[in-house]
Amino acid sequence: MTDCIFCRIASGDIPATIVKRTGDAIAFRDLDPRAPTHVLVIPAKHLRAVRDADGDEDRQLLGRLLAFTAEVASELGLDDGGYRIVTNTGRDAGQSVDHLHLHLLGGRRMTWPPG
Ligand code: 5GP
Ligand code: ZN
Repeated sequence: MTDCIFCRIASGDIPATIVKRTGDAIAFRDLDPRAPTHVLVIPAKHLRAVRDADGDEDRQLLGRLLAFTAEVASELGLDDGGYRIVTNTGRDAGQSVDHLHLHLLGGRRMTWPPG
C-alpha cells in the first residue's frame, strides 16, 4: 500500500470531504482550512509537483487540473468575489505533501505577496 496520503484519498482508502471528481482529478476540502473556502485539487495519478510533469500526457493533465479547479470555484460560488489558486513546490514554498495539489482559496480578501 502507498504511504502517500493524497494517493490514499484518491483511492478512497482515507476519507475526505470530496467536492467534485472527474476521471483523473479529485477536489476535496482541506483538513485545516485557511480561508472560508479551501479546497485541494489533485490528480489521481501520483506526481510530486508541477515540475515533475513529464511529456505531453502529464502536461495535458496539468491543463485539465487548472480548468477543473476553475469549474469547482465557479460551482462553489467564487466567481464574483474571486479566488486564488496556489501550488507550493519544494521546501522554500512550504510544500508538506509530496503529491501535486492546487490550493483553491476563496471567500475572504487576501493579501499580496503571500507570506
Ligand atoms: P502544502 O503545505 O503541501 O502546500 O499543502 C498540504 C495541505 O494538505 C495542507 O493545507 C494540509 O492542511 C492538507 N492536508 C494534509 N493532510 C490532509 C488530509 O489527510 N486530509 C485533508 N483533507 N487535507 C490534508
Ligand atoms: Zn500520491
